[in-house]
Amino acid sequence: MNSVRDRSKLVPLVFQPLPLGRIHPSGWLLKQLRIQADGLSGHLDEFWPDIADSGWIGGQAGGWERGPYWLDGVVPLAFLLDDEELKAKVQRWMEYILSHQQDDGWLGPIRGGDRCQPYDPWPAFVILKVMTQYQEATGDIRVIPAMKKFLRKLDVVLEQKPLFEWGRSRWADLVLSIHWLYSRMPESWLLDLAAKAREQGYDWRAHFAEFRFQGKVKKQECDQTTHVVNNAMAIKQPGVWFRQSWDQADRDAVAQVIETLDTYHGQVTGLFTGDEHYGGKNPSQGTELCAVVEYMFSLEILVSILGEVNLADRLESIAFNALPATFKPDMWAHQYDQQANQVLCKLSEDRIYTSNGPDANIFGLEPNYGCCTANMHQGWPKFASHLWMGTADGSAELAEVGGLVAIAYAPCRVTAEIAGEPIGIDVHTDYPFSDSLQMTIRADHPVRFPLYLRIPLWAESAEVRVENDNLAIAEAGTFHCIKREWRGSTAVSLRLPMRVHTPRRYHDGISIKRGPLVYSLRIGEDWRLIGGQPPHGDWEVYPTTPWNYALQVDADHPQSSIAFEARPIGDCPFSPDGAPILARVMGRRVPEWTLEHNAAGPLPESPVRSSEPLEELVLIPYGCTNLRVTEFPTLG
Ligand SMILES: [Zn+2]
Repeated sequence: MNSVRDRSKLVPLVFQPLPLGRIHPSGWLLKQLRIQADGLSGHLDEFWPDIADSGWIGGQAGGWERGPYWLDGVVPLAFLLDDEELKAKVQRWMEYILSHQQDDGWLGPIRGGDRCQPYDPWPAFVILKVMTQYQEATGDIRVIPAMKKFLRKLDVVLEQKPLFEWGRSRWADLVLSIHWLYSRMPESWLLDLAAKAREQGYDWRAHFAEFRFQGKVKKQECDQTTHVVNNAMAIKQPGVWFRQSWDQADRDAVAQVIETLDTYHGQVTGLFTGDEHYGGKNPSQGTELCAVVEYMFSLEILVSILGEVNLADRLESIAFNALPATFKPDMWAHQYDQQANQVLCKLSEDRIYTSNGPDANIFGLEPNYGCCTANMHQGWPKFASHLWMGTADGSAELAEVGGLVAIAYAPCRVTAEIAGEPIGIDVHTDYPFSDSLQMTIRADHPVRFPLYLRIPLWAESAEVRVENDNLAIAEAGTFHCIKREWRGSTAVSLRLPMRVHTPRRYHDGISIKRGPLVYSLRIGEDWRLIGGQPPHGDWEVYPTTPWNYALQVDADHPQSSIAFEARPIGDCPFSPDGAPILARVMGRRVPEWTLEHNAAGPLPESPVRSSEPLEELVLIPYGCTNLRVTEFPTLG
């Protein structure tokens, strides 16, 4: 990389996200996005006052973050599905927002609600992310002038009143959109504004350099800096700022931030706990849904800036495990907090959470607080729109891409233009439920470009074959490059061998991972409607089968202790009944491991003794469960 800093330039992106609309979901991913559109995402605006009557479209229900949050997921959802009804909903909102910009440049209502301060910049950070996606999908010529006019006003506002509260914690999200605009309109005041936001914003790099929160925080310690969603958003902060600072220490801080969260609050899915402040490593602590989708977005941004395989590995782990697990399979209800060991979801005054309320882990319309109801929609659509990116490979930024790179794997069709030629890539696969992918690369006229395939760190001896050429072994943890002249239709096959491993976790227990999936005990479920109006009801979920097992696993040869069984992939793969893979393992109950504070009590220290009978247990992917045990004690 060029280490000479030119103040007028940003560090070029390693991978350039493709404009919204270039990736078309297929296979199970298309079904999943359809489930989402047919659930809360596609209907919230019809009945939930905070969207239906939002101040952002002239309504009476306040105009703070919720309208922009909903759009931030529904804009990409509408264009990924190319769904006329959803696109019409998006259009109505965007027309109103673009045609009602305040005379002074402010976007949205000047006062977001009775309890909000006027000119609160925070909800505008979200609407800017919406506008960049909408502009890429539609080319609407009003977007860039509207962003410029808003940012001019914001510049004045920040002179008079510096960033505060959420805006102070989440300034990287503003800088992201400023940089997006700067790459289209390189005016120096934009970088000065970004620098002002950083100056006024919270210094997350320093926060993690001397990290003080090495376990579950106490209530009196909770503030903006221990807040789970702020942290999930802040993971990208050093990387985003690195583009402007050119400071290697910013770049290096990304890995340090992620490692720190893993060390003190990490969960086996790649998430960290926060309910809604740092919760430590206990798998019974919760993680708020907003943090799940924001961590994913942070990783999508960081992969683009830094081009590192491990960031994309983690993105898949959160997308395939934590994201689907926190929704009712039909996506008409969601949790506020999910737990890795989640054995009961009920209203309970006696609870384990640091600050979240009695309904934080039920499945409902707006359990605990409505932020997740508004913000959850970006998870799957942004994952889909970041599956493939462009590589520069000699092309200038924002010019047409020089090559294509697979960031994450799921069935889809990609369209791009390279050297003036239209290129299509079809990805056929049941991944992550299968280890093999078949790709077809189409080019009407011969064109030479590199195709990069991410080889996850866990995929040792990955196999790549182009047409009938010899098999190539690709190195784990790299982007494997196939550089050739592509003409007509070319078949590329990839196999990512998935070996079982059993990382040591909390209290010396274990979890079971294979490829990108984490496996959890399947627990029988009794769903009880306690409120709301189905399909958007509020539900408690009670276990109907035991959960307090210790596993009998040979830690040195875990594959000899666990048998996997694949099933055909159905219409709802992320559900207990639709789980496309089962795993069988032996275990014994541990009678002294019981409920405490309406959650699985402290994990018994391994190894444990049990004289209960040996039983065959069925595990399914974490993302397919609603109740589960994911971190297990082991038998001595
Ligand atoms: Zn939330």
